[in-house]
Amino acid sequence: MTNAINATHDPKLKSWVTSANEAGSDFPIQNLPFGRFRPSGSKEAFRIGVAIGDQVLDVKAAGLVDTDDMNVLLAQGASERQALRTALSEGLREGSAKQAAWSKALHAQSAVELTVPCRIGDYTDFYTGIHHANAVGRQFRPDQPLMPNYKWVPIGYHGRASSIGVSGQRFKRPQGQTKAPDAAEPSFGPSKRLDYELELGFIVGRGNDLGEPIAIAEAEQHLFGVTLLNDWSARDLQAWEYQPLGPFLAKNFASTLSPWIVTMEALAPFRSKFERPAGDPQPLPYLDSPANRESGALEITLEVWLQTAKMREAGEPAVRLTRGNTAEAAYWTPGQLVAHHTVNGCNLQPGDLFGSGTLSGPTQDQSGSLLELTVGGKQPITLPNGEKRTFLEDGDTLSMRGYCERAGAVRIGLGEVSGTVLAAG
Ligand code: CA
Repeated sequence: MTNAINATHDPKLKSWVTSANEAGSDFPIQNLPFGRFRPSGSKEAFRIGVAIGDQVLDVKAAGLVDTDDMNVLLAQGASERQALRTALSEGLREGSAKQAAWSKALHAQSAVELTVPCRIGDYTDFYTGIHHANAVGRQFRPDQPLMPNYKWVPIGYHGRASSIGVSGQRFKRPQGQTKAPDAAEPSFGPSKRLDYELELGFIVGRGNDLGEPIAIAEAEQHLFGVTLLNDWSARDLQAWEYQPLGPFLAKNFASTLSPWIVTMEALAPFRSKFERPAGDPQPLPYLDSPANRESGALEITLEVWLQTAKMREAGEPAVRLTRGNTAEAAYWTPGQLVAHHTVNGCNLQPGDLFGSGTLSGPTQDQSGSLLELTVGGKQPITLPNGEKRTFLEDGDTLSMRGYCERAGAVRIGLGEVSGTVLAAG
């Protein structure tokens, strides 16, 4: 079971890497997320690391794996992944005999460069945020906000992997075709309605053979873990191009991932029941299982922060725009996404990425996009320095943070994904 609680989750565990024991650390010994790093300024190949406190452990140098290729690690089964987690937990805990040897395999996070945590072959973006689907649907189609398939089918589309970058990504404002509702013809130019989308990214571990669906009971065995994902979106391009085949250039100019994959095992203490509101249809049998009902949902707190160029120049910190929780926002569980994606025989491969879709809660202050927060640009927000925003402006740095807290468990974090909008050109 990926969501079994075991000795690696023991809240009493402390690490000999003392920064991991500080209150509020995203990376205590109960977390152990995976990423790819190299010493800052070097041209070395990226290698596999595990975040612990403010350090990164080189897992190959520590003798735990014999590869530098994250995708090879992803292809292993859940049992190998769990054994690796146990070995990491035992070696990093206080009093471990490994301390002397593994100290030599540590790098300060401040002295390393991180990259996208694996090679992403295919990227599928889902649409599990029902409050987002409702709010956006009301703006695009007031007569029918939620399409009739929404409560039956986990809606998704195939996105683009080549433009996915890691936190810190800087990208030019996209240009393209837009058409105002009252204009006779479209015009061409920089997007004026550039937005973010607050999502989780699910990284596929072991794949499946073409023609061999993954049953929901095994679905989570095929997920390695979770990252934060900002699916930048040009709303004006989107409104003009999205029918009949869905998003295209409005979405594929940049997408940004956080550098650390928090494993499904690390998230075990932060699961909750999957329940449908009264009156909603129950999932079809291939999307239903006792385990999914009992603990299919994830409880992750997500925050969105903004720092404008003016704030940065004045030395003012980022300001929080919203805060919400994934369990309230998502209509489908990660296991259901795997089962649905493969039910027709589609083959997943190690390193494939699923986006959850924008995870907005039921209230305005839990919005996962500016489209919702400013009601389609009609209600600007005012920042502490007096600046106003409807959509993102050049120089804006948008950051997302995620963490899990629950009584009886040690807080773990997903870290941060941030990105900066540059002028078009
Ligand atoms: Ca999206």
